[in-house]
Amino acid sequence: MNPDPAASLCCPKCSSAKVRRPRRTMADKLYRLLGYVAFRCSGCRHRWRRRLPPGYLSKPGAQRSETIRRRKAALLRNGLVYAVGLAIFALFVLFLSRERS
Ligand SMILES: [Zn+2]
Repeated sequence: MNPDPAASLCCPKCSSAKVRRPRRTMADKLYRLLGYVAFRCSGCRHRWRRRLPPGYLSKPGAQRSETIRRRKAALLRNGLVYAVGLAIFALFVLFLSRERS
């Protein structure tokens, strides 16, 4: 269905197909939010960023989506704990204000 991501990715400098994902820097992570993905040419060591459609790279790696799913679950769990804590605190404040009057 979709073209192979590796086939459509060539080095813009030497047009080599030996392209890999480099170690991600802080800037790369920020660019990733905008859909830009960093690449490194294994031939000439050229490094560049390219905009890819969302989910383009997560398809072949099921492990990545699993990590994202786990992160979302953890976030939801933390949010739930926070909400329960906030509710208990609100009840506590309500209890204190009732005692005074
Ligand atoms: Zn190159």
